[in-house]
Amino acid sequence: MKSYAIAVLPGDGIGPEVTAEAERVLQAAGQRFGITLTLTHFPVGAAGVAAVGDPLPEETRAAVQRANAVLLGAVGAPGLEHAPRHLKPETGLLGLRALLGVYANLRPVAVLASLVDRSPLKADRLRDVDVLIVRELTGGLYYGEPRGRDGPRAVNTLVYTKAEIERVARVAFDAARRRRRLVTSVDKANVLEVSQLWRETVTTVGRDYPDVRLEHLYVDYAAMRLVTDPAAFDVLLTENMFGDILSDEAAVLVGSLGLLPSASLGAGAGLFEPIHGSAPDIAGKGVANPIGAIASAAMLLRYGLQLPEAADAVDQAIRAVLSAGARTRDLAAAGEPVLSTSEMGSRIADLVLSNCGLAIADCGLDLPSSNRQSAIRNPQSGTAP
Ligand code: NAD
Repeated sequence: MKSYAIAVLPGDGIGPEVTAEAERVLQAAGQRFGITLTLTHFPVGAAGVAAVGDPLPEETRAAVQRANAVLLGAVGAPGLEHAPRHLKPETGLLGLRALLGVYANLRPVAVLASLVDRSPLKADRLRDVDVLIVRELTGGLYYGEPRGRDGPRAVNTLVYTKAEIERVARVAFDAARRRRRLVTSVDKANVLEVSQLWRETVTTVGRDYPDVRLEHLYVDYAAMRLVTDPAAFDVLLTENMFGDILSDEAAVLVGSLGLLPSASLGAGAGLFEPIHGSAPDIAGKGVANPIGAIASAAMLLRYGLQLPEAADAVDQAIRAVLSAGARTRDLAAAGEPVLSTSEMGSRIADLVLSNCGLAIADCGLDLPSSNRQSAIRNPQSGTAP
């Protein structure tokens, strides 16, 4: 029996709530496919500060380096926004990404037919939307030095090297080869020297991929096009901060921030986390949507452990419950029944165990039939890096 060690970092706010459901689904996948997954919890973010005064405790650092893969919830807590940098929850997350060297962050964004009406965009804009955002994750403005505050003056530094750009660009082009063979690279080359280096380097890498079309967009126009013509994108390649912003914007397409997963990959263990934050406004109420975390667990199985069958089973179960009308509060229309975080997690886990994929009629799902629709595409389609 295959056996893997997963370091689980639930973090703060809704992090522990959604991570618990991702763990439930991972255990179900393990049971169904005969895989032993040992899931061990470690603190990060405000939870790390509360435990030992450090947002990335030494015990957590050691554990993630030993693990086969890392599953993270979210970090961030009200009241710590203005704490000294070494005590900020976000410092723990940035440190974790740097420690693992996970420079390529993959964020698949695909619209399910069953959720088209949950987006504020018109349905015809959402047809055929299937974007893979490839965001550089360990460089740029979030990491550049010098940085700091000096009274009425503050400074951050935007820096990228050619090597950093090249390696993430290759991830994007390789992914495009498995998809629709288009890379849209985002920059601000009309203003920033770093963006000029970004554009030159991506163009050079692109020459090794003559079968992949490359286009360049300024970030401001990319932001507009993402909501006016989202189906025009295949792989969207961006630096760190632009990707952070554009991927939250992309959440509008799918109907909720709570749906989107991510995989962060480098040379060693991968880091898998939903794209949302700790959502303090809804923490502790049992209303958070766990699907972003559960879909991140599917990416963990696919890219972290190379278990595509188990990953497919989880992705299919997610699509099936959504197609069958299961809705957490963020997705429910007026009058629709609402599932709690753990009810949604249980439905998906049960379906993974029951081995009935999209054949909802055979699964005995206890869901409203009024809004059953067929799922149109696999959110992970062809996204292997
Ligand atoms: P957020 O993503 O936490 O929340 C934005 C909005 O989306 C809120 O209204 C929230 O209720 C909703 N939302 C988020 N996830 C949801 C889910 N799973 N189900 C239903 N609704 C959901 O962003 P924010 O409010 O800007 O930030 C809150 C804290 O999270 C801050 O401390 C921030 O620094 C941190 N943060 C952490 C990460 C991370 O851990 N990767 C990412 C973004 C923000």
